[in-house]
Amino acid sequence: MLTQEGREILAAARLEHVHYAIRDLAVVADALVAKGAKILYLNVGDPMKFDFVTPPHMVEAVYKAMRDGHNGYAGSMGIPDALSSIRVDAEKKGIRDIHSIFVTNGASEAVDVCLAALLNAGDNLLTPNPEYPLYSAVVAKLEAKLNPYALDESNGWQPDLDAIERQVNPRTRGIVIINPNNPTGAVYSRKTLEKIADIARRNNLVIFADEIYDKLLLDGDEHLSIAALAPDVPCITFGGLSKNYLVPGWRVGWGIASGSASAIKPYLEGVHQLLRARLCSAHPPQFAIKPALEGPQDHLAVVRKKLKARRDLTQKWADETPGVSLVAPKGAFYAFPKIEIDYDDKKWVTDLLTEKHVLLVHGSGFGQAPGTHHARIVFLPDEATLSKAYASMAEFMRK
Ligand code: PLP
Repeated sequence: MLTQEGREILAAARLEHVHYAIRDLAVVADALVAKGAKILYLNVGDPMKFDFVTPPHMVEAVYKAMRDGHNGYAGSMGIPDALSSIRVDAEKKGIRDIHSIFVTNGASEAVDVCLAALLNAGDNLLTPNPEYPLYSAVVAKLEAKLNPYALDESNGWQPDLDAIERQVNPRTRGIVIINPNNPTGAVYSRKTLEKIADIARRNNLVIFADEIYDKLLLDGDEHLSIAALAPDVPCITFGGLSKNYLVPGWRVGWGIASGSASAIKPYLEGVHQLLRARLCSAHPPQFAIKPALEGPQDHLAVVRKKLKARRDLTQKWADETPGVSLVAPKGAFYAFPKIEIDYDDKKWVTDLLTEKHVLLVHGSGFGQAPGTHHARIVFLPDEATLSKAYASMAEFMRK
């Protein structure tokens, strides 16, 4: 007879490499909340938990789509209006030679499909370290390997180009660039992007350009798409409405495939095959894409103004607090300060949570250079909340 243990259904061994540190401490936080504590959540990158408002004309467009009966399946690639708006937006950024655009359930699904269509088991993918954990989860599912390249804190968190060059091997199929970056807030220079494109070109790599925060640059700079700088290199640019247009719960993202037509063609057939197999992206929210990209952009000025003030407050806290140093974030809404401690950073964030009720994510959850400790701060909360959190964190550091 089977023992109770014998009845256990085990998860696949490949999941051993799937980690999502961002929610690791949620259990500790929930236990504190149950005891009546009020937690200051600086851990999750969801603007809608704070004082940001979805542009009303987008909400109207989705209501209208549902009222007009667009409640069946959509085409696998997405609705035509959305695809043409995404194309116009991409072309404005200088992306040419576009061979395919597809709408997905968040940029996350585009990442999932595009990596699945490329990587065989045992192939490897160059990914940034610190990383955004979606990529390692998908790579693990495919039984492929991560080939993490360092982001260099001493160089404004720009990718270490020599490391990338050294790390390419015969099983390397692609490189992921997250720009603006989560978790560092770095925005990459033209020179960095051109050099990465050159490495990809020489080594036959597909570039996966995650540009989900491309309209959230905080210092008035213009965002550069790597696909625009390397029209010949096979490139999938990921974007979406979640962050720039304040609807992460609608799950609207996309991929834009560009580069040499003959080189990318067989791979794109694989991408399309997988897109058809999953039927389609949620239909009514796709009706928000055109009004979002082509309609009023006023909310962006408001969002950037708020984020800039909150970034500055974060930098001030880092500059004034002994034991903390911070490379100024230039985009998105994350800061990744270095913390001078001589013990594990997960314990540090757990102690901070337990003693001061401020929730961050430990740097080791994203990967960091050996011997260094960091924490990721989401600076989406309003200034009053952030000031309170930073006062508690400064006190905690002094102790
Ligand atoms: N890429 C990066 C770098 C992110 O930070 C996130 C979400 O935090 C995503 C992709 C996921 O985007 P989406 O909501 O469109 O799936």
